Amino acid sequence: MTPYSDYIKSVIRTVRDWPQPGVNFRDITPLMQQKAAFRKLIDSFVHRYQEVQIDAIAAIDARGFIVGAPLAYELGASFVPVRKKGKLPFKTLSETYKLEYGEATVELHADAFNPGNRILVIDDLIATGGTMLAAANLIKRLGGEVVECAAIIDLPELGGSAAIEHAGFSVFSVCEFS
Ligand code: AMP
Repeated sequence: MTPYSDYIKSVIRTVRDWPQPGVNFRDITPLMQQKAAFRKLIDSFVHRYQEVQIDAIAAIDARGFIVGAPLAYELGASFVPVRKKGKLPFKTLSETYKLEYGEATVELHADAFNPGNRILVIDDLIATGGTMLAAANLIKRLGGEVVECAAIIDLPELGGSAAIEHAGFSVFSVCEFS
């Protein structure tokens, strides 16, 4: 939670039954559209990490990029994209994880950062935690130290943030939806 958590939560739109029945999609586009809210969102992350040594922000494809890039700029850190399978052109490391139906793969460039670098992983939302955990595991495999796994939104009832913490990573979210 941050001083702006309630405000930021209030401008996130819930789209019921999208992209399929039973899913409450948490749509951050209104948050991006409202200048003051978008600024408060980035400021919330900056405030949390400005005194922390962070070498790179590893942002998850695609909505993680929206917050990861301005945060990297503000913190003076580098920006590393964690992308869906088949998007990165150079040598990659990949991690596959289970979805409700099927599986997904995220990838990281093998030269994305130097061993021992301190990396903040960021995405828009943690649901089952599979995506974030796969990204954090990629960082570790490349010799990085995961400072924290950060998201705008956590859905704690799905158990993802607890699973990420259980795997030994710290988790931060600006707001939660139940
Ligand atoms: P998970 O791997 O289950 O934690 O899912 C997280 C990823 O899926 C994030 O990159 C989100 O963008 C997306 N996602 C999952 N569930 C939702 C939801 N209810 N609303 C918006 N995005 C979601």
